Amino acid sequence: MTKEQLEIELKKYNLNCIDELESLMEDTLLTNEKFNLTAIKDKEKFRELMILDSLIPLSFINLDNKKVLDIGTGAGYPGLPLAIASKGEFTLLDSTKKKIDHINDYVSTHNIKNVTAISTRAEDYVKDHREEFDVVIARAVSSLNVLLELALPFVKVGGVFIAMKGKQGEEEISQSKRALALLGGEIASINKSILPESGEERINIVITKNKEANKKYPRIYKDIINKPL
Ligand code: SAM
Repeated sequence: MTKEQLEIELKKYNLNCIDELESLMEDTLLTNEKFNLTAIKDKEKFRELMILDSLIPLSFINLDNKKVLDIGTGAGYPGLPLAIASKGEFTLLDSTKKKIDHINDYVSTHNIKNVTAISTRAEDYVKDHREEFDVVIARAVSSLNVLLELALPFVKVGGVFIAMKGKQGEEEISQSKRALALLGGEIASINKSILPESGEERINIVITKNKEANKKYPRIYKDIINKPL
């Protein structure tokens, strides 16, 4: 997708931040040459699969004035495009330090005030940040049953977790019933969309947190992965 095509898509969200998003893309692609931050290296694809894709949640939720956590943000996706496009207060988390260092360099150079990036594992960070966030979000991190255990303990009762998935997302819901029940989550909506150029399907699953999760969750990572709820 060209810059002009992305701009047309942004207008549908009433967004006027094409230059900031282009600058973010240029920076990620440049840094990619050194650190291999993302697999997508072509600008046309990047605009659609990294920038526009990251913004899909804005079609169903307003993040302004919300405290938002992006788990497994990688090079800052979806967290950075969402932070540029909204007035939410964002924490971006990833276990890989070089990715977080890069995000911190970017936000300080570009004077982006609504982002804090932290290099740690979600299951460690939660110890001091339980039920602190209105919205938790994760894209391309792991299967839904694993993600629920990592994400829901961070969500305030009454808040939401958004799992950004490809077309396999719906199948993952059927394997997540037990995790949802144990962690106090309930599927609120399943938002399907098609990316305009590639025709790829996206499924954003919104889970509301209705009650506190038992404090024994999340377990240690080995158990979360080997014995998913
Ligand atoms: N969300 C980004 C995106 O869509 O481009 C990155 C996706 S990448 C495939 C998954 C990222 O999740 C990796 O950068 C990895 O370091 C991070 N990750 C996986 N498990 C994690 C955990 N338990 N805590 C923090 N980060 C984690």
